[in-house]
Amino acid sequence: MTAGGKLDTTILDAGGRLGAKGLFGLQNQQFREKLAEFRLPAWRIRQLETALYGQRVTNLDQVTTWPRELREQVAAAGFRVGLPEIVETFRSVDGTERYLIACADGQTVETVWMPEGDGAEDDDSGPESESGSAPSGRSWTRATICASSQIGCAVNCQFCLTAKLGIIRNLSAGEIAGQVAAVLNRQQAEPGRDRINLVFMGMGEPFLNYDAFMDAVRLLAGPMGIPESRMTVSTSGIVPGILRFAGEPVRPRLAISLNAPNDAIREDIMPITRKWAIADVIDAVRKVPLRSRERVTFEYVLLGGVNDQPQHADEVVKLVRRANFPARVNLIAWNPGPGVPFATPDSAAVDAFQQRLRAADIPAFVRRPRGRDIYAACGQLKKTGNQG
Ligand code: SAH
Ligand code: SF4
Repeated sequence: MTAGGKLDTTILDAGGRLGAKGLFGLQNQQFREKLAEFRLPAWRIRQLETALYGQRVTNLDQVTTWPRELREQVAAAGFRVGLPEIVETFRSVDGTERYLIACADGQTVETVWMPEGDGAEDDDSGPESESGSAPSGRSWTRATICASSQIGCAVNCQFCLTAKLGIIRNLSAGEIAGQVAAVLNRQQAEPGRDRINLVFMGMGEPFLNYDAFMDAVRLLAGPMGIPESRMTVSTSGIVPGILRFAGEPVRPRLAISLNAPNDAIREDIMPITRKWAIADVIDAVRKVPLRSRERVTFEYVLLGGVNDQPQHADEVVKLVRRANFPARVNLIAWNPGPGVPFATPDSAAVDAFQQRLRAADIPAFVRRPRGRDIYAACGQLKKTGNQG
């Protein structure tokens, strides 16, 4: 199942091709246009939206608020729910599950379910009420879903396995939100009842697929019922995307993949730094109006011997102070992947790095690697079966 061979760098947008008769992912006016031949009144469209996004039906026949005849007519015209489907599941010893999810054109995308989260989610705000105790037969009280925004990625960070694929294509809004729906259905999780966090940290660079990504966010935060404050989007620092994001009325929390204490090291491991330097990224982030108690996350992948030394921690301290907005740092020990020439840092180096930030009053957290044994951890997603 590996992509193998030469990378396919053609960017194909998902919409308008094979999935043309799929309804999942459409909003408001789009339904009216697509289903024009049925002349549905607004309230029939609302019933459909509730079924698709609130109940997450997988088949038009389950839209029971519609008369059977209407369901049959719409299905007979070739329309389908078109929810992406989980075609393979890899289960880690730690409970993490990695899914291959198939899109209408047969491409697969990766999504990860992490019961109890991995510490990436900054969910200190919001009510705790739903997270009391696990319903019987269930081992988790809260969970995090890690979704992908593209198949592959064009950004080419040297330490990331997804980068090896190159960019295959963008995902549509329905394919992004659909990953979440498929996983919620699989786990029988309900956003209104269960504490579900969502991180857009899977395959791809969300801000290089901006419109589809934000359409998905609006679906998720609206009819799918996941509060925007429980969502985090991670970007490698696409400045025009961050500037657009700053103007969004509904938006996830923001995480920036910093990964280096200065431009020189960052250029080596994230060539995109030549286009947008760290200072440009920070200036753009400053334009994002933060909600009360909101912090921006800096993600920092520790690469043994490259960016994990005490002097690097001191530089990060200065950088975060200069940024001068509420921030936290998430440290991630590099997760290995075949053919990626870096080393996992010593755990002593990880601890020392964290302590140095904390001593300078910068909130710093070490993310637990989840599902490393099934290649589900950060930067390990590569559209593979079992990583031979
Ligand atoms: N493209 C976006 C979001 C997906 S990557 C971004 O780069 O921010 C999500 C996170 O995983 C990023 O912070 C990235 O730096 C990190 N990451 C990538 N490869 C990794 C690896 N091999 N080990 C640990 N973290 C990795
Ligand atoms: Fe793309 Fe993010 Fe991987 Fe960089 S770290 S190659 S931006 S997925």
